[in-house]
Amino acid sequence: MQNDTSSGNKEEPPSQRWSSTSPSLKEFRSAGRGFWSDVTDSDWNTWHWQLKHRVTSVEQLQRLMPTLTPEEYAGTALANHKLALAITPYFFNLIDPSDELCPIRWQVIPRIEETHTASWEMTDPCGEDSHSPVPGLVHRYPDRVLFLVTDRCAAYCRYCTRSRLVSNATGYDFHPEFDRQIQYIQNTPSVRDVLLSGGDPLLFSDDKLNQLLSRLRAIPHVEFIRIGTRIPIFLPQRITPALCEMLKKHHPLFMSIHSNHPRELTTEVRTALGRLADAGIPLGNQSVLLRNVNDSPEVAKAHVQKLLICRVKPYYMYQCDLIAGSAHLRASVRTGLEIMENLRGHTTGYAVPQYVIDAPGGGGKVPVNPDYVLSRNADRVVFRNYEGKVFEYPEAADGTPLVTAPKELEEPELV
Ligand code: SF4
Repeated sequence: MQNDTSSGNKEEPPSQRWSSTSPSLKEFRSAGRGFWSDVTDSDWNTWHWQLKHRVTSVEQLQRLMPTLTPEEYAGTALANHKLALAITPYFFNLIDPSDELCPIRWQVIPRIEETHTASWEMTDPCGEDSHSPVPGLVHRYPDRVLFLVTDRCAAYCRYCTRSRLVSNATGYDFHPEFDRQIQYIQNTPSVRDVLLSGGDPLLFSDDKLNQLLSRLRAIPHVEFIRIGTRIPIFLPQRITPALCEMLKKHHPLFMSIHSNHPRELTTEVRTALGRLADAGIPLGNQSVLLRNVNDSPEVAKAHVQKLLICRVKPYYMYQCDLIAGSAHLRASVRTGLEIMENLRGHTTGYAVPQYVIDAPGGGGKVPVNPDYVLSRNADRVVFRNYEGKVFEYPEAADGTPLVTAPKELEEPELV
């Protein structure tokens, strides 16, 4: 599907495809063909071919990447008991095999640290199972539901919040029951917003997805449908003109994609996202703050700016959930706040996501922001701007306008 193959179809030494000294984080490059240089264009650009040829075993991985570290080798050998290994050839080509800290590698190649679990980590950190009135449906917030459609993804993220069920490596045996899920929504008029997620809904065929969307659209009180997907990033070949034609019949339909690093935004991804945007689908991005991936202000800023170029609004930046075996991937809340501090005011407002922590155990998303209000006094609010300059907004402690000028502030008087 991609016309721009700036890396061409010929084999490139892996270390030259992506190096940590790439000229610009915001440069758009093709993933190229890498190890699959002998594959025809038509196969490579077909999503079924990409799925069929995923990297799924330690033997395959070691053959393609002899630089596998002992930690990765041991983690991969055990992965199929926790969260399966799967990487599409397209996405695999984004890995820099010469860089142990490659941000792409870090997200999809298992490590032995995944088997280390702290007592405060959980298999269901967002408490989804305890908010499920019927299997596969999570009803936590008053007017919206999460509709899980499948336990399969194009590739598996090592920090996945739903690793208990996706890929079925732990024997969770997830079986959504669409009839019961839809019936619950039909019988619950307060539900006006349905988020399809999983696993990845875009792994369904166009027909199957069309049928599901049509059934949801037939419910009069469902105003709004969202699809949560990482397919545009893992498998941009799936975003075909036919898929976009089908999706646009179901407006208002929004899509939340999931990208964590500017290097994921290739020419192929930009084309796929452009197609979705041309179909009138508003696009937002949900990223997860991850150690060694996007835990630097420089990377985070390049990422959000590059998303805007791809017509995607950075929507949420999540603190990584306390999923079992994720300590090596989690960056600190302090780092998250520093990143937000370096975005707000320093770049376009549209580029600034909301930083949230999903309250461990099932409290829902809680926004977390740097403190801009320094104090609230009897006759003013004292706050700072992005440069650290301090300002005052005069108002009474109860929020009403002042009738006399505020008195000179000697000591901040907190109320
Ligand atoms: S694509 Fe989403 S559901 Fe699938 S493994 Fe990644 S985070 Fe989990």
